[in-house]
Amino acid sequence: MSEKGTLYLVATPIGNLQDITFRAIDTLKMVDMIAAEDTRQSIKLLNHFEIKKPLISYHEHNKNTKGNYLIEQLELGKNIALVSDAGSPGISDPGEDLVRLAVDNDIKVTMIPGPVAAMTGLVISGLPTGQFVFEGFLPMNKRARQEHLNRLKDEIRTIIFYEAPHKLPYTLKDIYNALGDRRIALARELTKIHEEVIRCSILEAIDLYSEKLPKGEYVLIVEGQSRNILEENEKNKFAEISIEEHVQMYIDEGLTKKDAIKKVADERGMIKRDVYNVVMKK
Ligand code: SAM
Repeated sequence: MSEKGTLYLVATPIGNLQDITFRAIDTLKMVDMIAAEDTRQSIKLLNHFEIKKPLISYHEHNKNTKGNYLIEQLELGKNIALVSDAGSPGISDPGEDLVRLAVDNDIKVTMIPGPVAAMTGLVISGLPTGQFVFEGFLPMNKRARQEHLNRLKDEIRTIIFYEAPHKLPYTLKDIYNALGDRRIALARELTKIHEEVIRCSILEAIDLYSEKLPKGEYVLIVEGQSRNILEENEKNKFAEISIEEHVQMYIDEGLTKKDAIKKVADERGMIKRDVYNVVMKK
């Protein structure tokens, strides 16, 4: 049996064609075929670099049939490159499914790294980059979207979203309703002529787009919840019940009195002895 081929995930520019890497070009010229999310888009890129290869369309709506076809070809020894519309395949596109299929079938997967819109936006946002979460596109379903955003309320890391321009005003309102007002950076048209980063508060961004229509592609980078607010919320969470009730709650849950006192002291930001004195005064 012939040796299996390799699946190459090839990152392509998110705007500026000069951001292609030498390895990306070499790989696209070397493989037997190229699977592309949007063949019309990719053909422009391939023509620009004078690359002529069979193009197979592989997108959200044909990923099951085309995925199986591509795996068959890889099993037969063909080397295949996967490119997305722009940026890194596998990030907010069906590349993820093809990688899983290839891994399940013991096919070698490698990547020719390059641009990712999320990282490009994050590093120039001016918001903390030490810890961040990538959320990609929010669910379209209203309820799922709300639940999803509610889960992000206490997230202290910087949060990155992708959004299409026509949905941006609604998404900003949804983010504001769930997370409250915070700093946000709207990184648009990255690496293109009209690249711009709008740094403001979420409410200011909502105001801005109530007056003008968003244009181009956007990455939204949202400040995480402040640790101080979280600690404050944690302390206030038990303001409704007395210290005695609070300790009793943990004893009822099975903790010893000593452990319950310690836990209550931690949660209320008190010293253990003060909690102990209140409980023993009873
Ligand atoms: N795989 C791509 C990547 O590596 O970033 C992302 C694909 S996703 C289908 C497309 C989204 O990425 C857009 O809706 C937008 O949010 C973001 N995006 C892509 N190119 C961008 C650019 N030049 N400037 C700002 N955002 C961009």
